[in-house]
Amino acid sequence: MPFPSRHMGIHYFNEEETKMAKTIPYKIFLSEDELPKAWYNLRADMKEKPDPMRNPATGEEVPVEGLYPLFCEELARQELDTTTAFIDIPEDIQSFYKMYRPSPVVRAYCLEKILGTPAKLYYKFEGTNTSGSHKLNSAAPQVYYAKEQGLTHLTTETGAGQWGTALSMACAYFDIALTVYMVKISSEQKPYRKAVMETYGANVIPSPSDTTNVGRAILKDNPGTGGSLGCAISEAIEKAMTTENCRYVLGSVLNHVLLHQSVIGLEAKAALDKYDIYPDIVIGCAGGGSNLGGLIAPYMRDKLQGKDAPHFIAVEPASCPSLTRGKYAYDFGDTGRTTPVMRMYTLGAGFMPSANHAGGLRYHGMSPILSKLYHDGLLDEARAVEQSKVFEAATMFARSEGTLPAPESSHAIRVAIDEALKCKETGEEKTILFGLTGTGYFDMSAYMSYNSGEMSDYIPTDEDLEKGFASLPKIPGVE
Ligand SMILES: *Cc1c(COP(=O)(O)O)cnc(C)c1O
Repeated sequence: MPFPSRHMGIHYFNEEETKMAKTIPYKIFLSEDELPKAWYNLRADMKEKPDPMRNPATGEEVPVEGLYPLFCEELARQELDTTTAFIDIPEDIQSFYKMYRPSPVVRAYCLEKILGTPAKLYYKFEGTNTSGSHKLNSAAPQVYYAKEQGLTHLTTETGAGQWGTALSMACAYFDIALTVYMVKISSEQKPYRKAVMETYGANVIPSPSDTTNVGRAILKDNPGTGGSLGCAISEAIEKAMTTENCRYVLGSVLNHVLLHQSVIGLEAKAALDKYDIYPDIVIGCAGGGSNLGGLIAPYMRDKLQGKDAPHFIAVEPASCPSLTRGKYAYDFGDTGRTTPVMRMYTLGAGFMPSANHAGGLRYHGMSPILSKLYHDGLLDEARAVEQSKVFEAATMFARSEGTLPAPESSHAIRVAIDEALKCKETGEEKTILFGLTGTGYFDMSAYMSYNSGEMSDYIPTDEDLEKGFASLPKIPGVE
């Protein structure tokens, strides 16, 4: 079926459609009382747990104390907790969430109309806060627990800038100092992102910088470099290790981040339950896996408990295809190879997506929880899509639903549209829920390249991937 035209013109609903719209509102909200009071930990219901984190040198399992130099203690406990199903959301975090939550579940009536599909499309919209994405859901608790422990300073890296912005907002609220190493080329291309972080009080340092040994060494060898995410991570970690009362924090991939993001799915399910709506398909984009893990959490619980459950689809960029073409292997979380190793679908910590890839989701690996669910066939499907197809869907969504979506989110939009078009052919009235993780206001250079027809697709060859796989570590005692 051809993809519908981007030029759609004005559209009207007939009387019957308007009536239907009244039965199920455009936006389903929860009241403050109905907001989740605990996060849901998927691992508690998994019969087969994800493989443990290991020390790369010895192959031994990392004990909780082994994580204390990296994460604050409560986060270290959450990271390794595979048995507690519900973990209370501290009251201060519940209050923080109330500033921008609940996020709405939106019925995409206008998009359905344009597609002419009998499918019913819903999206959970996480872009209603200033950071413009779901990342604030984990930034807030991470800063809160750091503050509780008496830490005074946090460091992180940011590429596109959403995580750095979310963390700046949370650090301003809980009054903790923040240093953000921002990939130099991004800080030059996205000066407004940098300005937002500075407005919230963060110290934003273009990386590589002369504030760390790693940075100085890189600058000496490559004076003109625009930097890389791997290098920014190494600088942020070094700064945390050498600063008192300081820790490094990360915005995706880790188990505790997925735990915090379960608020997305818990809210979505509570809202849809009000109208007895149960999705047939749940779709999310997957970079490190945190929004997808959060969105599917309560529905995956149904599946783990043997009940009927939706068909789950993870969507990733064809240029960084960790689930669809990666290996399920122990790997480092960072390019600098400083973290403990985790078993996950990975392209190798040394993998670099093509420079012309503008659509985000550039991480080499995938959340160990999602990786395990995918490996065991519980996360049903992963699809890789090319960025020009992603922007085609993004544009159609913007013109029909009004919201300018983030390129990352648009991966999920693309597959939701593809599934809705399948329903048009078969006449099935499937209910589809997808995650709209954020807005695209700071991604206009990517939109500009699409609008001018200059956007190209790059799919790595098997040889390209082999180079990344060659960087996979050999862990003692692990096959
Ligand atoms: C960071 C980000 C993602 C991808 O991260 P996950 O951990 O895979 O969820 C997706 N959408 C937006 C808007 C983001 O900022």
